[in-house]
Amino acid sequence: MKKTQLKKQTAHLLFISIWIASCSFAGNAQNKISFATNPVVAHRGAWKKNNLPQNSVASLKQAIELKCTGSEFDVRMTADDILIINHDPEYNKLPVEKSNYKDLAAFKLSNGEKLPTLLEYLKAGIKNNNSTRLVCEIKPSEISKECGKAVAEKVVKLVHKLKADPLLVYISFDYDILKRIKEVDPKASTQYLGGGKSPEQLKADGINGADFHYSVFVEHPTWIEMAKKNTITLNAWTVNEAADMDWLISNNFGFITTNEPELLFERIKKSPTANGWILKWSDEFNYRGLPDSTKWIYDTEGNSSGWGNNEAQFYTVGKKENARVENGKLDITAIREDIDGHSYSSARLNSKADWQFGRVEVRAKLPAGVGTWPAIWMMPGGWSYKDGNWPAIGEIDILEHVGYNLNVVHASAHSKDYQWQKGTQRTAVITVPGATENFHNYILEWTSEVMNICVDDSCYFTYKNEGLGESKWPYNKPFYLILNLAVGGVWGNVKGIEEAAFPQILEFEYVRVYQKN
Ligand code: MG
Repeated sequence: MKKTQLKKQTAHLLFISIWIASCSFAGNAQNKISFATNPVVAHRGAWKKNNLPQNSVASLKQAIELKCTGSEFDVRMTADDILIINHDPEYNKLPVEKSNYKDLAAFKLSNGEKLPTLLEYLKAGIKNNNSTRLVCEIKPSEISKECGKAVAEKVVKLVHKLKADPLLVYISFDYDILKRIKEVDPKASTQYLGGGKSPEQLKADGINGADFHYSVFVEHPTWIEMAKKNTITLNAWTVNEAADMDWLISNNFGFITTNEPELLFERIKKSPTANGWILKWSDEFNYRGLPDSTKWIYDTEGNSSGWGNNEAQFYTVGKKENARVENGKLDITAIREDIDGHSYSSARLNSKADWQFGRVEVRAKLPAGVGTWPAIWMMPGGWSYKDGNWPAIGEIDILEHVGYNLNVVHASAHSKDYQWQKGTQRTAVITVPGATENFHNYILEWTSEVMNICVDDSCYFTYKNEGLGESKWPYNKPFYLILNLAVGGVWGNVKGIEEAAFPQILEFEYVRVYQKN
C-alpha cells in the first residue's frame, strides 16, 4: 500500500515539476510573485460566504480569487505517512494519526471534494497564483513532540520539491516545530500562534512573526510597536468583527486572519489608513482603573467660576466614580452630590499631547438626561482657561449635545470673528438617531485648508480657510483634545436639570488621532 501511495506521489511530483518548468512561477524575473498588499488572510480558505467546506481546495481557490494576501490551512499526517489538510485530530470520527489515508478519504468533504492531501493542496495553491501566500499551520502531533517535528520536516521538503517555498508561511502553536522548520530551511517564514512570547523573544529565537489571538494584542498593546521595531510580522486571529478589524487595520497589522475576508476587504476600503492616515496617538481604554495618566490630565481650572457658562458641575481629580476605565471603555459620570458648593460632580479630561492637523476619531455614546452637556472638543496647545483670550485663540468643537434636545449633535469652530457670543460661529447640526443608545464615531479631519466634521460616514460640517487671517482661521497650530460632561450651564440648563435622571454617563470606546506624513 505504501509503495502505491509513494508511486502516486512521485507521479504528482513529476507533473508539478513539469508544470512549474513551463510556467516558471518562481525564479523567473518576468513572472515574479507580487503578493497582494492587503492584510487579508482567509482562515482555512475563504469558505464561509459560499458555504464551502473549511480547508477544502475550493476554499483555497476562492481565497486566491479574492486576491487575499494569504490563505491559511491545517496540516496533519496519517498513519501511513500521507500529509493531509484537516483541522481536527479526527476526520469523520476517525483519528487522523491512527488511520490510513484511504480509510479517511472514503469520506468526501461536504462539497463532494476528496479529502485533500498536502500535495494536491499545494498544487492547487501554485496554480494561477502569484498574489496569495499559503499560510500553512502544522498541527502538533498527538503521538509525540518528535513526531510533530518530523511532520514539519516532511512538509518543508515537499514544499521545496515543488519549488513553492516563496509562497509559504509556516505557523504553529508548537514553538519547536517552528524552530525545526528554521533548521531545515533558514529562509522559511515562520509565525508563532501561541501568544505567550513577546516580539523581542521571537526575534531572539529567529521566528519571523507574531500570529496571536487578537486579545493578546489588546492585553499587550506595547507589543505592537515592539514587533514593528524588531521587524516581526504582526498577524492576529481569528478576527470576524468589524470593530476588531478596524482596530487592527488602524495599527497597520501586516496580516489579519479571518473567517470573513469579504467583510475585512470592506473595512480596509473604509479605513482611515486607506486614505493615507497614520495612527499617531490613541487610547483604546483596554485597561482598568483611572484614565491613563501618561495620556490625560484632569482639568479643574474653571470650577470656581462655573467655566464662564454658569455650569453646575464640579470637576474632580482622580475620582473613579467620575472617570474610570473598565470593560474596554472610559466612562465619565456626572453624579448628583453636594461637592464644594456645587450640586454635581463630573470630570473633564485633557489630552497631554497636542496635534497640528490630522484626523481625530472618538467613538462615544452620549447621556440622555435633561441638563447634560457633553462635549468632545479641542483647544490650542498650552492654552488654559485663565488665559482669558477665548475665543480669539480658536476652538474646535467636534461634538456638543444637550440632553433636552436628544440626538441632535452640533459641530462648531470659534474664532475672534466667528464666535458663539456674537452668534457668528461656524456651526452645523446633524440628527444622529440613537446617539444616546449606541456608540458612534465623531470625527474631525483638519488640514491647513479646511476642517470637516463627521458622524460615522456622514460629514455635515465644513469650514474652509478663507485666507483672511488669524481672526477667522486661528487653526494653523497644535490643539489638544478635551472630553467632558458638563451639567447645566447657559446651554445645558435651557430646560432645567432633571435631578432624578442622574447619575448620567458619557462613554468612550476609543480615541484615535491620525496624521499624514
Ligand atoms: Mg489553523
